[in-house]
Amino acid sequence: MQTDLDGKVALVCAASKGLGRAAARSLAGEGCRVAVCARHADELARAAAAIAAETGAEVLPVAADVSERADVARLVETTVRHFGGLDILVTNAGGPKSGVFDTLGEDDWRAAVNLTFLSVVLLCMEAVPHLRRRGGGRIINITSVSVKQPIDGLMLSNALRAAVAGFSKTLATELGPDGILVNCVAPGYTRTDRVTEIAEATAAREGIAAAEVEARLVRHVPLGRLGEPRELGDLVAFLASARGSYITGTTIPVDGGFVKGLL
Ligand code: NAD
Repeated sequence: MQTDLDGKVALVCAASKGLGRAAARSLAGEGCRVAVCARHADELARAAAAIAAETGAEVLPVAADVSERADVARLVETTVRHFGGLDILVTNAGGPKSGVFDTLGEDDWRAAVNLTFLSVVLLCMEAVPHLRRRGGGRIINITSVSVKQPIDGLMLSNALRAAVAGFSKTLATELGPDGILVNCVAPGYTRTDRVTEIAEATAAREGIAAAEVEARLVRHVPLGRLGEPRELGDLVAFLASARGSYITGTTIPVDGGFVKGLL
């Protein structure tokens, strides 16, 4: 399938590994010039160089913490200064702490609001004027299937990703007349370092093999396996392209059929 992404400028957050990196890889593979961010400069520089080597695209690493207001402003400004504009924003961050109501204190909630919700709002505040200047663009938020079907033990994710979904839907309505399309992509269980580490930690705690934990995770996935990061990255590239030109204000799961609801 051909896209029109050649030469477009994308900013992909939290992209030194996992889903963010896969989204950056898919966009770069379609010819985008891509800025990537993560907190740790060394790891990020290695990821940017690898994506550039794999795709031939220009990839700009900008070390930044998306939960910090000043970092977000510098990140968007550096991207725009380097590439001359911005067409596509992909928001993402590390996952919020796991836990249930009884184990989470006010500090946990405030940290998660900053990381999971406010980072998206702040990135949009910085990016939207630049998208408007281009006459349109795309905002794609990486959330989670927890917005469709809350996951036990992930109170912060369940609560705050729903806030991102509400924000995105409203923003899509407000920015439609500007030609800016806003959507969320909702990964199910996907084979990233985060999921591998959680499986290994659970296995060690329970004295079982990591493969057994993985088998437990995919028991409720009709396709019977974890997703691969590229499978989410390719949806991001589709939504970013002209191929996704009538899709806005929605959340699309990439979950192997995990979500049991109809919508
Ligand atoms: P990961 O741990 O493999 O990668 C996370 C990336 O985010 C890394 O590049 C890390 O450096 C970066 N990062 C973390 N905090 C940051 C911050 N404050 N500022 C900038 N960069 C930061 O994780 P992943 O599996 O790719 O998950 C990405 C997001 O998707 C998370 O929010 C996660 O909760 C969510 N998610 C993942 C899955 C899954 O199965 N992998 C499922 C549903 C939702």
